[in-house]
Amino acid sequence: MTNVKNKTEILKVILLVYTIFACLIFFVGETNCSPQSAMNAELQRNYEIQNVINLIDQKEYKQAFNALEQIENVDMTLINYNSLKFKELLKEYKKILIDEANAYSSGGDYAFALNLLNSRQKYYIDDENINALITYNTNQIKSKNLVAYNGEVEHLFTHCLLAFPEMALNPKNPLSTDFDRDCLTPSEFKKILLSLYNNNYVLVDINSVYENVNGVCKKKTLYLPAGKKPLIFSFDDCNYDSKKKNKGMVDKIILDRNNNIATYTSKQTIAKRVSYDNEFIPILENFVKTYPDFSHNGAKGLICLTGYDGILGYRTQKSNATSRFEIKKAQEVVNRLKDLGWKFACHSYGHYHMKKISDMEFAKEVNSWQNEVEPIIGKTNIYVYPYGEWEVTTDDGNISYKHKLLLDSGFELFCGVGAKTFFSYVPIGTKDTHTLFMDRKPIDGRTLRQFGDYYAHLFDAKQVYDHTNRTVPFNS
Ligand SMILES: [Zn+2]
Repeated sequence: MTNVKNKTEILKVILLVYTIFACLIFFVGETNCSPQSAMNAELQRNYEIQNVINLIDQKEYKQAFNALEQIENVDMTLINYNSLKFKELLKEYKKILIDEANAYSSGGDYAFALNLLNSRQKYYIDDENINALITYNTNQIKSKNLVAYNGEVEHLFTHCLLAFPEMALNPKNPLSTDFDRDCLTPSEFKKILLSLYNNNYVLVDINSVYENVNGVCKKKTLYLPAGKKPLIFSFDDCNYDSKKKNKGMVDKIILDRNNNIATYTSKQTIAKRVSYDNEFIPILENFVKTYPDFSHNGAKGLICLTGYDGILGYRTQKSNATSRFEIKKAQEVVNRLKDLGWKFACHSYGHYHMKKISDMEFAKEVNSWQNEVEPIIGKTNIYVYPYGEWEVTTDDGNISYKHKLLLDSGFELFCGVGAKTFFSYVPIGTKDTHTLFMDRKPIDGRTLRQFGDYYAHLFDAKQVYDHTNRTVPFNS
């Protein structure tokens, strides 16, 4: 204790001397000698330590610990300067750490729990509980044969399925050409899922493939069962647009009496009105029930939403007079989907061409998303460009106003459209903008016919193709 007291006294003296020096320099007006910058750094450090102590005094232990971690070269010597306060912090933070690690491991994410514990171990080197948890999570990973995966992450996307293909692809349907080009039929989607499973792909949560370290988003190492390859599946334009109603898609996603996800299509016979087998959400849910190891840690798909005509078949947009009722219904479905492991992405509000609209129109777009969609689905870090059209910099190489706005709105991972697997920074090859970009392979009638070779490792396009319902022959 005497030793600690002495150290505290010494620290106080150092602080006092530095303060006097700082005042002297301030009054003399001398600013550019290097001892001063060293002194400033030391003062800054002392200020940061004091901030940690203040947070401890306020019993904000998690915040205090995070603040401690921000201090450069923090080590036990530093902590021992004020050992009583820091002992209190480490004791209290330990409870938080254990709770957090247990929450991850009980959700099956042993790798995340282990990463968290390992990153804090330096403060708890001889701690029995922390070491036991590290051993537990390491053993869980070993017993599940999870191995580090550093290869490419496949990201596929399609649109809402053609739930009633004979109607959707009927040449008399004014939308049949668009539907044929942009969508899959339920039978094609089911065959694709089975083929992906047989080729050892496993669904992963898009949030698990990257991390934000001090404001910079980076690709993260995944821990997967040995031999498995990660797959993200996203689904665009899931609003069941009013203009597409009664043209071959379902009307909306609903919850049945047992809180199960189903689809509803009003202009169908009673037998077909509610279905569990004609849209990607219930089909994928059923598939994972049959093949649970197709989903890693409960991951499902990424639902990419706009807002101009509501979401998931509910007219939640402010311009709709009955939006309050629609929002309530949509909220129930969204909550259930989240519980089931589905994630949401922003696909803009009005499905604009990013380069064609003005900065002011773009700002309005972002604002409408934040006011109308975000309150229902919560905040999402994922931005999926409409038409895969993106703009990051202006012609002179600076970050564009639109991109800055997206970054300031909290978007971290940006997704485009392309037939090759691509996970990088944009502008390509630089880390300057810290913008992480991921391309997605489109799967639809057109790509099945034209890009089968790019997808050969995923599925056999000809075998998948719905030769019964599609009117365009495969070899066209
Ligand atoms: Zn779209």
